[in-house]
Amino acid sequence: MERSFLMVKPDGVQRGLIGEIVSRFEKKGFKLVNAKLMQVSRQLAEKHYEELKDKPFFGELVDFITSGPVFAMVWEGNNVISVSRAMMGKTNPAEAAPGTIRADYAVSVGMNIIHGSDSPENAKREIDLWFNGEVVS
Ligand code: ATP
Ligand code: MG
Repeated sequence: MERSFLMVKPDGVQRGLIGEIVSRFEKKGFKLVNAKLMQVSRQLAEKHYEELKDKPFFGELVDFITSGPVFAMVWEGNNVISVSRAMMGKTNPAEAAPGTIRADYAVSVGMNIIHGSDSPENAKREIDLWFNGEVVS
């Protein structure tokens, strides 16, 4: 069964949106197979976003992800990688379709509430990085 790494970013945690976001994926029919509330180190943030290290916003992105606790999750289900990305909406909340998480809860590209793996390769890499590959059930 396909798995994806998803994370409620510091803005989502601070605004009390963990329950709402978990609920959306549960109601869709995906299964939560691991989760933890954690403070992210700079080293972990830089590794997670290493594909973006040459972007002008990389420093700000790492500052933001390390600014407060995140809620890291592993979800399982049919096509969970692409379907969860569709439920999240486009990276820029201003372009995200109504009804998506980013459209409903965010206004800025930097603080866009949620991360989700974008490919099977990155899902595996991120589940290994954040959870040492472990799932609870
Ligand atoms: P994520 O990887 O966080 O799920 P994404 O896959 O939709 O988001 P990426 O291209 O991987 O988008 O960018 C990672 C994050 O970097 C985005 O979620 C956003 O917060 C930030 N980001 C992307 N583009 C910009 C930009 N032009 N200006 C500022 N921040 C940006
Ligand atoms: Mg991405």
